[in-house]
Amino acid sequence: MTEFHVRTKKKIERRDITDLVVAAARALGVSSGAILVSVPHTTAAITVGENYDPDVTTDLERAWAKWVPDVPFDHEEGNSAAHFLSEAIGTSRLVPVDDGEPKLGRWQGIFLVELDGPRERTIEVTALTGSENGKRKTGNE
Ligand code: ZN
Repeated sequence: MTEFHVRTKKKIERRDITDLVVAAARALGVSSGAILVSVPHTTAAITVGENYDPDVTTDLERAWAKWVPDVPFDHEEGNSAAHFLSEAIGTSRLVPVDDGEPKLGRWQGIFLVELDGPRERTIEVTALTGSENGKRKTGNE
């Protein structure tokens, strides 16, 4: 496993981290298999999605802000909306790796989703590589 850090700038921010994940996959030496991209946070998420038109990013940031249900929240820290979005969107994505590169579609990128920023965030990349006998093992053994 390896990790890197990103400082977010907005309350809700969809940040393209594809290049950083590619570099992490290379550092791990994954040739084929998959990587798990995850955040050890309760108010952030990871997605795979459209990375070409920047309007998609601002559209999704506005959509996520409106997605929070209108229910009373008791959590005293006052950030249950961010906890809801983190659990609804998900804190990890599994990405296939082929020939040492994350296998993404032409219009796909990997995104950190900040939901309670701005903050310093940690992104963890764990290798799940195929072995000779077909069993799977994690890359941090
Ligand atoms: Zn909280």
